Amino acid sequence: MRKIVILFGPPGIGKGTIGKILSEKWSMPLVSTGDLLRENVKNKTVIGMKADQYMKKGELVPDSIVFEALVERINQNDALKGILMDGFPRNISQAQMFENILSQGDTVFLLNLVASDNVLIDRLSLRRICKNCGAIYHLKNLPPKREGICDICGGQLIQREDDKPDVILRRLEVFRNETKPLLDYYSTRHKVLTVCADDNPDSILKRIEGLQLWA
Ligand code: AMP
Repeated sequence: MRKIVILFGPPGIGKGTIGKILSEKWSMPLVSTGDLLRENVKNKTVIGMKADQYMKKGELVPDSIVFEALVERINQNDALKGILMDGFPRNISQAQMFENILSQGDTVFLLNLVASDNVLIDRLSLRRICKNCGAIYHLKNLPPKREGICDICGGQLIQREDDKPDVILRRLEVFRNETKPLLDYYSTRHKVLTVCADDNPDSILKRIEGLQLWA
């Protein structure tokens, strides 16, 4: 029996930031398909070379490629009891593929994080990530102590290729058209909990903890 929490919401909602904190609190690995794909792109694997062209444009990577990367990850030992999923599933067919590999007794929650487009655009355009350790910063709300340098490992901070303005708009559009319909799909099958995520991580976490998911 496995506990699966799907962190759901548009790009920029904070799935990576919130997911990292929850992962430590709940002792569940955070599995981000975006991170898995970026790692593959960086290492120039077959998956990475196929995925790169879609990611640059803010389009979804074909399901079979994402699924291959995901299944390899969630079959690892640390994911046997629970998983926090970030960025998967992104459309109905991925959700169906995922249902097929669930075991009886697995508990699935979908945490639906919501905020307005203005908040998302601000978060994405001012987001910087460490090239080395992946730590996430925001130039206004969570700036590094030294400009352009990661506080944690001293690595160089960069802007993700797909955090540039025109790609951000495309990603939001893809979310609305392809991913948002999943809310209906999940609400008929599993528990969907909606949380306002338009302010700081501490407040968002308090709201999530208030849901008493594991009570
Ligand atoms: P993210 O880090 O979740 O914002 O994802 C960055 C990019 O990776 C997306 O814009 C897609 O190109 C790709 N990606 C991540 N997860 C998926 C997925 N489940 N299905 C298809 N493409 C994905």
